[in-house]
Amino acid sequence: MRMGKRRSAVVIISRGFPGISLFLVRSTDLSRPLGAAQRLGLAGLVGYFLGMPSDCYACRLTDGTEPLPGGRIYATKSWVVEHCTGPLGVGTLIVKPFRHCLHVGDLTAEEAQEIGPLLQRISQAVRAVTQADQVYVCAWSHMGWQPVHIYFVVQPAWNCWREAYDHPGPFVQAAMFQAANAPPRAEVQEVCREVKRLLEQSA
Ligand SMILES: [Zn+2]
Repeated sequence: MRMGKRRSAVVIISRGFPGISLFLVRSTDLSRPLGAAQRLGLAGLVGYFLGMPSDCYACRLTDGTEPLPGGRIYATKSWVVEHCTGPLGVGTLIVKPFRHCLHVGDLTAEEAQEIGPLLQRISQAVRAVTQADQVYVCAWSHMGWQPVHIYFVVQPAWNCWREAYDHPGPFVQAAMFQAANAPPRAEVQEVCREVKRLLEQSA
């Protein structure tokens, strides 16, 4: 992990509301201003320092303005790993670039080099923690017929699902979205702890 020697500072941001002034305190990494600019983009960086939430849900989860059960699980220089907040079940993780990027074809060489080994490692951890028979890895990022922040879904799957679903793979995912069951928070936190522990052990 590259967290150890970071210099960080507290940034106080004032947000005005009629009759009330709310101060948000955020910790940011001043040792890597270019990295932050690269990750957030110019508009994101300005918005960050003005305390304006991004209009991208994936970015808001990453910058902490949206609740994220289980917290951040892991990060490389360019990618971050979180538990899925959608209805794809406990143990389904999201791997996405820090940078607001809409197309896999637009990844930088560095981002592209990191993603292969990272997906292998995260898939291995998901399988180990959940005892899954298979781990699905897919990327859609086409919300409401609009390209959105790219993310890979890393989802545990079990052969016993044959009792519950007619077909495996995307058919299971479609059924899960139809059912719209949010994963239980306590179970999400537990699986995130386990995956983190496993990744730290194998670091
Ligand atoms: Zn984004």
